[in-house]
Amino acid sequence: MFLSIKGLAKAFGELEVLKDIDVSLEKGKVLSIIGPSGSGKTTLLRCLNALEQPSRGVFSFEDGLVLDFEKKISKQDWLRLRRKSGMVFQSYNLFPHKTALENVTEGPIIVQKRDKTEVQEMAERLLDKVGLKDKMHLYPHQLSGGQQQRVGIARALAIEPELMLFDEPTSALDPELIGEVLGVIKDLANEGWTMVIVTHELHFAEQVSDEVVFMDGGYIVEKGVPEKVLKSPQEKRTQQFLQRIL
Ligand code: ADP
Repeated sequence: MFLSIKGLAKAFGELEVLKDIDVSLEKGKVLSIIGPSGSGKTTLLRCLNALEQPSRGVFSFEDGLVLDFEKKISKQDWLRLRRKSGMVFQSYNLFPHKTALENVTEGPIIVQKRDKTEVQEMAERLLDKVGLKDKMHLYPHQLSGGQQQRVGIARALAIEPELMLFDEPTSALDPELIGEVLGVIKDLANEGWTMVIVTHELHFAEQVSDEVVFMDGGYIVEKGVPEKVLKSPQEKRTQQFLQRIL
């Protein structure tokens, strides 16, 4: 198992946003998370990416890294957690004053202190992979939303993560631009990337996922293979949610 999460809880002050989440992920598999707004999907991803500190729970990784959030987490383990995943945000979060290429090279050069020439070559390769070879010297405002999000994906890949996290990667996009971004994510799934994807695109989730989790009110209500959760859900809350958004 690449990652096993047990008893994950997260509160913001009095507000319990994640309550006793158990979920695991195998290497090379894709897990999609669906559920109504406010159910805790983004917070779960942010906990995985070390952008939020869980209140309780244990993360156990295949390589032996174990974080028990009821105990004090060492700075070193926290950094190991952060380095495991690359995150793609709903609103792209690109640096507006850097070109597409500079957005991709920033993390590896500044944070990871890797060799500049090597990083440059890798970044060009990644931008080519997401179909933006001819746009790499343009700034975010010169790119469409779909192109900006593809830069966002190349940037997350550039840090060579073991896990890719996507937080509603197409929800800020005009409908005609959604397909190009989903296409890139599908390619990554076919290449065997381990991924967690928060999405409202149910057809896409069905095609790309090995497992789908339905969250509501900070709990995992139902999980299973996509055909089961999306086509014949057992839980009433899942059925109601699917009826509402289809
Ligand atoms: P989802 O991604 O399913 O829409 P979120 O994880 O974004 O849900 O949010 C779950 C709940 O946590 C919401 O009620 C939201 O308002 C709350 N929340 C998220 N982040 C914070 C924060 N930094 N401080 C306080 N409350 C937050």
